Amino acid sequence: MVYEPSVATADNRVVVIGSGPPGAAAALFLARAGVQVLLLEAGLQAGSPGLTFRVSGLTLAKRKGELRQRDGVRRTGDPDAQLFEELAPGGLSNHWSCAVPRFSTEDFEDAARGGLDHTWPVTYAELAPWYDQVEPLLHVAGPVRGVTQLPAPRVRHARELAEDWAPVAERAREGGRSLLPMPYAYGADTTFTRTGTPFNSFVRLIEPELGQGRIEVRFGARVSSLEWSSSERRVTGVTYRDAVSGAEGRVPCRAAIVAGGALNTPQVLLQSKSADFPNGLGNTHGVLGRYLHDHPLGKVVIDLERPMPIHPAAYLTRPELSRSKLPLYAAACMQWCSASDIAKSVLARTPKRSRRLGFSVFGTMAATRDNYVALDEGYRGPDGAHGLELHITHPPEALPPLEEARDAMLELLGAAGCNPKLSVWKVEPAGNSNHYGGTCRMHASPELGMLDGFSRMHAVRNVAVCDSSVFTTTPEKNPVLTSMALAARAANRLAAELKGGDI
Ligand SMILES: Cc1cc2nc3c(=O)[nH]c(=O)nc-3n(C[C@H](O)[C@H](O)[C@H](O)COP(=O)(O)OP(=O)(O)OC[C@H]3O[C@@H](n4cnc5c(N)ncnc54)[C@H](O)[C@@H]3O)c2cc1C
Repeated sequence: MVYEPSVATADNRVVVIGSGPPGAAAALFLARAGVQVLLLEAGLQAGSPGLTFRVSGLTLAKRKGELRQRDGVRRTGDPDAQLFEELAPGGLSNHWSCAVPRFSTEDFEDAARGGLDHTWPVTYAELAPWYDQVEPLLHVAGPVRGVTQLPAPRVRHARELAEDWAPVAERAREGGRSLLPMPYAYGADTTFTRTGTPFNSFVRLIEPELGQGRIEVRFGARVSSLEWSSSERRVTGVTYRDAVSGAEGRVPCRAAIVAGGALNTPQVLLQSKSADFPNGLGNTHGVLGRYLHDHPLGKVVIDLERPMPIHPAAYLTRPELSRSKLPLYAAACMQWCSASDIAKSVLARTPKRSRRLGFSVFGTMAATRDNYVALDEGYRGPDGAHGLELHITHPPEALPPLEEARDAMLELLGAAGCNPKLSVWKVEPAGNSNHYGGTCRMHASPELGMLDGFSRMHAVRNVAVCDSSVFTTTPEKNPVLTSMALAARAANRLAAELKGGDI
């Protein structure tokens, strides 16, 4: 099936670039608000190979394509920095783990505590109604009661931790942390999907909407730039290169949403040069591509004297804000529970329990101008795309919170009588968490961020950005849910202004 734009509506469409989770959410909310959408997706229609079979949230069979690092990356910060990419419908949701924690009021307060540079132009209270609308699309399985560090999601399936975790949770509370089941997308559903994860944003959000006739998709269309009209003072078109023929194409648009991911979005905008914007579209103060940050990540494996539950997976939050010393620095532990962990537990005759627990310890780093992504104009890939200069180094402040979270988990398991022994501790290079953000950030001041509080460019009012590049800062939480909530909010505002004739 090929979805082609209808000529009659071509000039009035909003072009959405990319179908990862926030791009798909933006397209869906625009379409539901009555806006005609043309989705340009760099990946081919065949998509990334995969298959997932789950029963009540337990993965019984899974196959997915290899996750590859992007070619043509010149690393000028951490020489081992990683940059994984999937140019396919659904983007990295072909590979993700589906953890969907909300950011909390304290996360936004912590950012503000870090100073004006780090202050978001949106609050948790403003974002909460959009979390409420996005979570049902994700079929969240998670806790029904929230805590200060992790607000309760709107769940489809309530999850509670097994009773063995009660003493650990009690002790965690005394120390200012909380222990809860991690909210997961499709976390308790029985599903058979032809993708490598139970939630692929293209398959789950875009495909079911295509019959309504508001969204059209052009596959294999890698966008190279947005076309600025100096006379009309707006973006009037989008240019792309066809992945199969190599031909250049152009589509007119009334507005555009860029959602190529935290590295591809700045790439497209940096390539969109004009006499009015010689440093990239909307880049009036040199912030485009800067403030790059990610989640410093430690991986810990702990051996226990007695088996503890591995399903549902536990989440040990960061300490409450009143107990955190340094603004913008914290870490949380996310328990592993893969299909192979479950299989091993069955073989060991301790189903859904294990004497060996693994956790990803996600930390934070302050977003500063010193870390950035820029075009490497000396490199051209086989598809004609520029290379990237990736300049990121984790600051020394990032390590202690990772170690503190690891030690907190060891101490809690010890207090619960599990006699824990540290088996593996490894701090990963930058980028390994796959949670880059900040390269096209929101800020009330255009000097400190490209976008306003509705993810719209300060300098180009008919362009919004919808992916984690918009994050002013990133707390220690996985980004997808928040990027989708911000995207839904941005799309809704854009649709209202388009209808009202304000753009
Ligand atoms: C192994 C793994 C586990 C993860 N687990 C989690 C998790 O549990 N929870 C969580 O929140 N996050 C997780 N993530 C991260 C999550 O997958 C990403 O944050 C998310 O997919 C980012 O969405 P995005 O749309 O910004 O970017 P992407 O997913 O990269 O999507 C970008 C889309 O834009 C398209 N595109 C790019 N450039 C262009 C262009 N020039 N023209 C047209 N189209 C373009 C791509 O083809 C793609 O469809 C995980 C990632 C990995 C790899």
